Amino acid sequence: MAQVQRMSRLMIKTLRDDPADAETLNHKLLVRAGYVRRTAAGIWTWLPLGKKVLENVTRVVREEMDAIGGQEVLLPALLPKEPYEASGRYDEYGDLLFRLQDRKGADYLLGPTHEEIFTQVVKDMCSSYKDLPVILYQIQTKYRDEARPRAGVLRGREFQMKDSYSFDTTDEGLAEAYQLHRAAYIRIFERLGLDHRVVSAVSGAMGGSASEEFLAPAPAGEDTFVDCPNCDYAANTEAVTFVATAADASAVPAVEELDTPDTPTIETLADFLGVPASATLKNLLVKVDGEIVAVGVPGDREVDLGKLGEHLAPAEVELVTAEDFVGRPDLVRGYVGPQGLEKVRYIADPRVAAGTSWITGANKEGVHARNVVAGRDFEVDQYLDVVVVEADDPCPKCGTGLRVDRAIEIGHIFQLGRKYADIFSLDVLGQQGKPVRVTMGSYGIGVSRAVAALAEQTADDKGLCWPREIAPADVHVVAAGKALQTELALDVAAKLGDAGVRVMVDDRAGVSPGVKFTDAELIGVPKILVAGRRSAEGVVELKDRRTGEREEITVDEAVARLTADLA
Ligand code: ATP
Ligand code: MG
Repeated sequence: MAQVQRMSRLMIKTLRDDPADAETLNHKLLVRAGYVRRTAAGIWTWLPLGKKVLENVTRVVREEMDAIGGQEVLLPALLPKEPYEASGRYDEYGDLLFRLQDRKGADYLLGPTHEEIFTQVVKDMCSSYKDLPVILYQIQTKYRDEARPRAGVLRGREFQMKDSYSFDTTDEGLAEAYQLHRAAYIRIFERLGLDHRVVSAVSGAMGGSASEEFLAPAPAGEDTFVDCPNCDYAANTEAVTFVATAADASAVPAVEELDTPDTPTIETLADFLGVPASATLKNLLVKVDGEIVAVGVPGDREVDLGKLGEHLAPAEVELVTAEDFVGRPDLVRGYVGPQGLEKVRYIADPRVAAGTSWITGANKEGVHARNVVAGRDFEVDQYLDVVVVEADDPCPKCGTGLRVDRAIEIGHIFQLGRKYADIFSLDVLGQQGKPVRVTMGSYGIGVSRAVAALAEQTADDKGLCWPREIAPADVHVVAAGKALQTELALDVAAKLGDAGVRVMVDDRAGVSPGVKFTDAELIGVPKILVAGRRSAEGVVELKDRRTGEREEITVDEAVARLTADLA
């Protein structure tokens, strides 16, 4: 028997207008429909309806984690700093970490993720290979002092995550735990009704499927990904690696200098010479841990500083400023070329492959050079894929033009290997009686973010529109207003409740039918049942929230139909 939720007793206040600070659909609608309430930047209160949806997501996640043999635990969010100092993350996280002290002045942090603590737990609890493999998970509150907590619960500073960790003695065991999670995640997102893609999160160069992300395509997403219309290739744009092909430069004449006054930008240069920007080589100067480094990319491409930063991490990457040119006559601003740049490390995009020929700076004010050939006239110290990926770039697998789309990262699976086991000397006694180092995986799902992603993907111009599995109720019964109608509404709600259907009934007195209908659509329960005009005959209107299809049927038929839907 399911409980009947009477709206007259529900703490809810719907809003007609979008909150002033809301930029994204989920933020606007979840606030307007009374699911969540902002407490501080990136910190949210889940109101009764919101808590139901969050619980539904949690239940699906929990069921599928249990199904792959995961054991649920609950670790603290308030953590001592020492394990995070041991791993180096206490510093690496920088401003992202919430830090605090206890009354004795000892340092603590609020957990952003729990690899360190889980490693310690397993070190404590497992001593033999017979104790492994093990998959542990928790559904718990995480804290990250995000630079831009925006988009409502999509990016919180406090948020709910399911994090799990696998512990194995062999690489095969880890691969298996990874595949179990991958399959469980697909089932979870299917059950939630989330349109999703599994994409590679690391560049091919760094090795296969060691890390994949689950992305929910949505315009509000902060990630971009590519997928190939021809083959199964899909990757986060940060992980796309262009496949370089060396060119034959045997017919390219020697380097020739060109007078190109007032052409410090690619645009002015291409205009002046009447060549496409793609024929020129752009050399961006950056500072890597304070040292000036040049980054070469084709003139028509942009450098993705985020990608560059990921490649060079933990080194810090910054743009150069005018001051950095002081005392550096070898660096001629606007006319930098890799030939003759002896004192500067040269990083290039794979498109600047050996044998390719370029127009580029001649390291003299107002002068460029042409026929500058990679590998002949200059050496590349390091090739890194650092350009912003664009639609129609060739697929690294089959060469077809790629599609680029925005998405929300809802999950991430990762083969960690022995990184944390090494840090904490996590060994178990092996079959041969010798200690064996444990190998780990870590796997996350943004539980509260999934609610936002679902809202983004399913809402329409009238409001939220939940898939049944996670909706706060199966049916929203609306009593149009008269006493008889309210009586019928409560009666049908009770019948549905008895049959195990989750019901919400709008029995509010003094609220106009128009407002009730608008609210029902805003709240987004999949079926709306109206006790209106024909209540005296025992006839109600059954409406599908998504399709808008409506029909008049008897109460008995409605109850039978909705109960059958459930089974
Ligand atoms: P992002 O790139 O969006 O900051 P992340 O890669 O740092 O996320 P992970 O460390 O992989 O995130 O965390 C696992 C999951 O937790 C993510 O896939 C995402 O769904 C969720 N998540 C991460 N940060 C937040 C946040 N600030 N608010 C809500 N959910 C989050
Ligand atoms: Mg991630």
